[in-house]
Amino acid sequence: MIWTAPIGYNGPVSQPDGAPPVNGPLLDGQGRKIQYLRLSLTDRCNFRCSYCAPMGPDRQEDPLTRPELARVVGVFARLGIRRVRLTGGEPTLRRELLDIVRDVRATPGIEEIALTTNGHALATHALLLREAGVTRLNVSLDTLDPQKLQRISGRAATLERIVSGIEAAFRVGFASVKLNVVVVRGENEDELGNLARFAWRFGATARFIELMPFGPGKPVPTAEVKRLLEAQGIRLEPDATRGWGPAYHMRGSSAVGGEATSGLVGFIGAMTENFCDGCNRVRVGADGSLRACLGGRDRAPLRELIRAGASDEEIAAAVRAALLAKGEKHEMPRGGSGLLPMIGSGG
Ligand code: SAM
Ligand code: SF4
Repeated sequence: MIWTAPIGYNGPVSQPDGAPPVNGPLLDGQGRKIQYLRLSLTDRCNFRCSYCAPMGPDRQEDPLTRPELARVVGVFARLGIRRVRLTGGEPTLRRELLDIVRDVRATPGIEEIALTTNGHALATHALLLREAGVTRLNVSLDTLDPQKLQRISGRAATLERIVSGIEAAFRVGFASVKLNVVVVRGENEDELGNLARFAWRFGATARFIELMPFGPGKPVPTAEVKRLLEAQGIRLEPDATRGWGPAYHMRGSSAVGGEATSGLVGFIGAMTENFCDGCNRVRVGADGSLRACLGGRDRAPLRELIRAGASDEEIAAAVRAALLAKGEKHEMPRGGSGLLPMIGSGG
């Protein structure tokens, strides 16, 4: 098949025989530069967040092994990936997590290793993760009410444990800690101001994420989240600090209860804002399949390629081809059917 560059694409040109480009920066089909890999280590989880994980037991999985993960990261690094985020499922459930972090850190070209966690194991893991090479941490927490937390995330979710984890992350000196808050209509809209002030106590940024349609629950548009924050005592001002990719920040300040506090507030308007414009990422799910788009249905089965004996060049070519086929925007407004649940894709 002859590959034709999409409108607006200004990446490397195709080869003389019409095949897609094999060198130059890693670009998607719209010419966006891809430098960030989200790598899911497992699709198991000890929580059951209503918007992420189907009810019932974890799937029987066959994830990429530690050597396979190291190989995949090496291929992506040679393609220009500079930042890797380890996610899941719950990445701290993966027994070899610290060794996997060390492997990623030892990969030439990788400059940053981030991890997203539900915080359940953070009190014991924070120092070990930092020593192994994790530089940035995102902890998910949607509410400061212990009962509501269990309603949203399941019986295993304990506020006290997650807060101890966040305190530990702060104590061991992570350069960046973010609090991921999924805003769900009728659940936590009344707590947004308190969650922002809670994050600032630790020098962390609260990031408000629009609910994506992978389960029940109604989203709250980012424009309304900003109005709710203002109504709950958070004054918002523009801030030049850019997020990495589709997230962006504003500076917030509060004087509730006579105590002046301030910090950054982040927004991820996955459903109502120009989320896709700043896309710089590629995902490899727990099943070893590459997803060029979180809200897309196409997958490239890297695990099967690896296990069939593909060379690094063949894997790299499959990665480039999958990214070049990526559309302009995600398909989530059409609903979540046919999309991999977040627990499998890593968010
Ligand atoms: N278990 C870890 C955690 O919860 O942080 C990492 C995996 S989780 C899939 C990654 C992120 O995706 C979390 O911050 C979670 O809140 C978010 N997430 C899951 N389902 C979502 C949904 N339907 N819409 C928006 N964000 C979602
Ligand atoms: Fe588990 Fe994270 Fe999904 Fe919650 S959001 S079910 S903690 S993977």
